[in-house]
Amino acid sequence: MEFADRVAQITPSETVAIIDKVREMEAAGTDVTNFTTGTQAEPRDFVTPEHISEASQAALDDGQTHLAPSKGLPELREALAAKLRDENDVPVESDQVLVTPGTKYALFESVLSFVDPGDEVVVLDPSWVSYNKMVDIADGTVERVSLDDEFLLRNADLDEAVGDSTRLVVLNTPLNATGGVFTREGLERLRDLAVEHDFWVLSDEIYEKLIYEGEHHAIASFDGMAERTITVSGFSKAYSMLGWRIGYLAAPQAFVDEVAKVHSNSVTAVPTFLQHGAIEAVTGPQDHVAEKRAELARRRDIMVERLADAGLDFPKPHSGMYMFIPVDTEDDVQFCKDILDDKQLAFTPGSAFGTPGYVRATWVLPDDELRAGLDAFVDYVA
Ligand code: PMP
Ligand code: GLU
Repeated sequence: MEFADRVAQITPSETVAIIDKVREMEAAGTDVTNFTTGTQAEPRDFVTPEHISEASQAALDDGQTHLAPSKGLPELREALAAKLRDENDVPVESDQVLVTPGTKYALFESVLSFVDPGDEVVVLDPSWVSYNKMVDIADGTVERVSLDDEFLLRNADLDEAVGDSTRLVVLNTPLNATGGVFTREGLERLRDLAVEHDFWVLSDEIYEKLIYEGEHHAIASFDGMAERTITVSGFSKAYSMLGWRIGYLAAPQAFVDEVAKVHSNSVTAVPTFLQHGAIEAVTGPQDHVAEKRAELARRRDIMVERLADAGLDFPKPHSGMYMFIPVDTEDDVQFCKDILDDKQLAFTPGSAFGTPGYVRATWVLPDDELRAGLDAFVDYVA
């Protein structure tokens, strides 16, 4: 039996695969120090804030189990449009917002709706593991471009890499794998090229509220970009709602009308009662976000200090939950297998992000586990 080429050509998400692998090992009784992902609600210590869960619970109790409008509840779309206007200076109306089952699906249906077979899509390495596969599924052509020496956009070799044949650039700031935050200067370079060569930007801003040093700039707010940017984000990170699977996209109206066709023919709509929780997340108290940010910054410092004390050289993360640590081998996939088997330490290989020679590690672990895991890692690589 042969199946579709578009699926045969891709591999499973490396980030999801390693989460599942660690889960299996733990179910079989092996304790693993899980440096792979920072956003699992359990057994980690960040759970969805109570007022958000209560809003969904209240909606369930109130019988809100009927089908929501396909593009999302009007109140949620309005709240998200207001957030984008007020916090990000992105000029959008609620009709331009589509509520999706996770940011991942917002990315996926955007790629499906924008990329024709053979269209050139640039991803900036280290790029999050699923971008290139989404483009592969759409039969687009992935152009991998490395970010600059500091893993930033500022001095990346963009002029060489993009041109009139570029259809789309996938942008991710704050950057998942390294915790980098792109500067306005770097983003302006990208804007100038987008306008000159007439390509669009798919901007994944899911870590925008978890910045420790630096400032978030939404590229859709830049002159000339509102009409060529698809902004995607969600609730998994700042609101600790990874398991809820809810996110959104905002884009020019004509594009939203196209994506909406894919959306209504695939997901129909995001569950109604979950959207009530999301409304509370956007419009309710935000102090828990500041608390989470402060706590993550504190743990980041523990990690950075320990690795620096061990003499390791790495790009300091300024955002999010992840950093890149260089390892002394190009075969980082084997390195990750070995350290998991030998020391029960789980990392994601840099090559999954198009950047071999590194492992990606989170600091979102309870202090004791973080410190003990770091000691074991340093001991292993010494
Ligand atoms: N983009 C990036 C950069 C991510 O790290 C993640 C991780 N969850 C996603 C998108 C997907 O987010 P969601 O959970 O909202 O689908
Ligand atoms: N965003 C997380 C990660 O990069 C969770 C896994 C996923 O959604 O792919 O590890």
